[in-house]
This record gives sequence, C-alpha cells and structure tokens, in this order.
Amino acid sequence: MFKINDNYLKLPGSYLFSTIGKKVKAFQEANPDKEIIRLGIGDVTQPLAPAIIERLHAAVSEMGVQETFKGYAPDLGYEFLRSAIVENDYKARGVDISIDEVFVSDGAKCDSGNIQEIFALGNKIAVCDPVYPVYVDSNVMAGRTGTYDAATGLWSDVIYMPCKEENGFAPELPDVVPDIIYLCFPNNPTGATITKDQLQKWVDYANANHSVIIYDAAYEAYISEANVPHTIYECDGAKTCAIELRSFSKNAGFTGTRLGFTVIPKDLKDADGVALNALWARRHGTKYNGAPYIVQAAGAEVYSKAGKEQTAKQIAYYMNNAKYIYSGLKDAGYSVSGGVNAPYIWLKTPDNMTSWDFFDYLLEKANVVGTPGSGFGPSGEGYFRLTAFGTYENTVKAVDRIKAL
Ligand SMILES: *Cc1c(COP(=O)(O)O)cnc(C)c1O
Repeated sequence: MFKINDNYLKLPGSYLFSTIGKKVKAFQEANPDKEIIRLGIGDVTQPLAPAIIERLHAAVSEMGVQETFKGYAPDLGYEFLRSAIVENDYKARGVDISIDEVFVSDGAKCDSGNIQEIFALGNKIAVCDPVYPVYVDSNVMAGRTGTYDAATGLWSDVIYMPCKEENGFAPELPDVVPDIIYLCFPNNPTGATITKDQLQKWVDYANANHSVIIYDAAYEAYISEANVPHTIYECDGAKTCAIELRSFSKNAGFTGTRLGFTVIPKDLKDADGVALNALWARRHGTKYNGAPYIVQAAGAEVYSKAGKEQTAKQIAYYMNNAKYIYSGLKDAGYSVSGGVNAPYIWLKTPDNMTSWDFFDYLLEKANVVGTPGSGFGPSGEGYFRLTAFGTYENTVKAVDRIKAL
C-alpha cells in the first residue's frame, strides 16, 4: 500500500492567483461590456527580441543537419553559454566566478524550489515577508517548516522577516539565527532593493554564523541606481556563504522559452568542509538533462551586442511603464514604493482597506486587476502590487482610471 508524502497536504493551496482568476472571470461575465486591464501577474508581454529569434531559427536549423546536430546537452550547460555568463554577468562587474561554478537550468523557479534538497531537514529557513511563495512552499513539501497557522498565515518553524514601510521594505538581521536565508533583490513583490552596504551586512552575518544565503537576482537587469548590487558576489566574503539564482525570464523575455542558472562557488562549504558545488553537480547530473541546445544558443545571444541593445530597450519600455504607474499613483495621493529598480510598484491601500478589499474596489470601480499584497505573506496585508509588464497604452489607461476614482 503506497503512502503519499503528506507534507503536500499541509500546503494551503495556490490560493492567490486562482482566487484572482475566479473573481476576474465572475466580474467579466457580469459586466461583459467592461474592458478589464490586467496589471497583476509577473509575466512579460514584449515578444522575444529579433536577434534572439534569429539565433533560435539558426539553432533549430543546426539540429536538422548531421554535422551540427546535438543530442543531450551537457548536464551543467554548454560551455559557450557558461563562459558568456561568467564574462558578462560577473567579470564585467569585477567579480571572479569560474565556469564550473555556473549551473545552467531551465529557470530560477525550478532552481529556487529544488536547491533546498541539498540541505538537511533540520535546517531553519528565514524568508522575507512578503515572500515569493516558492521559497516557503518547496520547504513545506520537504517537511522543513512545521505547522501552518491559518489565522496568521505563518509556519511554525520559519523565521519571517517583515518588510514594511517602517524598514524601507528591507529585512532586519533576525535574532534567532537561521541556517538558510532567502533574499530576493530587486524584490518581488515589493520592488524594493538594498544597497551594497546593506547586503554586505547579510554576508558578514551569514559568514559569522555559518548560514547560507540563497540570493534570487532574477530582476537584476532592472537595477538603475548605482549603489544597488547586481550580484551578491560584489560583497566581500560572499563566495563562502552565498548561492545566486539568475534567470533569462525577466531580462530577456524567456518566461515561455525557459532558461536560468545558479552560481555555487567552490569555496561554499558546510561546517565539515563538504562543498555544495559538488553536491549540486551530483543532483543536477542525476535529476536533470540540461536546458535545450536551441534555448541555450538563444541565451548566449542575449549577451551579443544586438542582444544587449534589444533587451535593454524592452527593459526601458517596462520601466517607463513603472515610472508612469509610480508617479501617477503618487500624484493621486497613494503611498507608493518600488518601480525604480524593479518592474513592480507596491502601494499602500487607502483608508486602511485590506488588500482583498482594495482588489475588489479596483476591479469594480476601475476594472483594473492587481495582486493583493496579503497573498505574499502576512506583512503584505494592506499593500497591493501592480506590475509594469503591460503595454504602455494599457498602463496609461489603467493609471488614469485609478487617478479618476
Ligand atoms: C519571475 C521570477 C523568477 C524567474 O523564474 P523563472 O523560472 O526563471 O521564469 C525567479 N524568482 C522570482 C522572485 C521571480 O519573480
């Protein structure tokens, strides 16, 4: 008789986006003449850049020719892509990462969900609150989080680090020392960033306590301010305490194409001297057969001159939307943050409305869909996320409707 992994039964379910979907559908059915604008989900809308499309076509053709056909990709990624990553994402920023510290994958969601596998069950995790749900849910599935309290939305064994207006949406060093610390900057959902000095404090804290930081830098390409680090390895000592997750989804529109990578420095070891790099290589080799050649070829093209120019234009397009949302809401009297180094605008709901009340209000009165902050964790209550990933025309229309309320 088989038994299931009953940790899965502890999960409260993917409440957030399914509830949004249901509410929007019901509203549209009741109001078929209303035009709904969606500024809710964190997915890009601009098509892949021409240089990337061209490279995809060429790579597909290579697969149909005997001499250039490729079978299984190397487990850890093609060297041409790993070296482009090392040169452009690290060497160009004065950071020395070697090719064998880079693990190519099909995206940062998988990596952020899977990376907990190489750590012992007894490890204590710390997350920012609000949080990208994958960090917590993947640890729930593993059985590392204790019990769920539906009233508070908190797991008994997780250390939550509240990120609110009072602390500039930056977590504070916890008193109870976690073993694994998840940080995501620029942040989804708040759009907040921390400075290099602030991140250095986390690196020092992790090294002093022999904790590991899992640093999600999926939104690195949106950074516009000079004192915001593009990679955690800009901080001294990060190679002995940090894993970095990166993705081609938000910087180059690969959400549907799938490509990402994880960096695990060889100097990152547990208290007994076991290197995490070797463990992750073993795990990758056992459970993963590599991102497709075609996609990796297209990924390398992101680093070409044309690729860089064209993807930078897309990011500028989204950030122009972000600016419009930010300043429009500010003009309308809202308390807003984010939107400067990230495609997310985080606003405080007016008149102490709950996040869900404001969701309903915006849907009914402005026909605009956003994401309730409380869906990302208890500290998100009273906040609301709008994304800059829509078209400019829809963004303008949505903001103007909100301003007119
Ligand atoms: C979008 C996103 C990612 C990227 O996920 P992919 O699987 O690479 O598409 C990673 N982390 C966060 C916080 C994100 O919002």
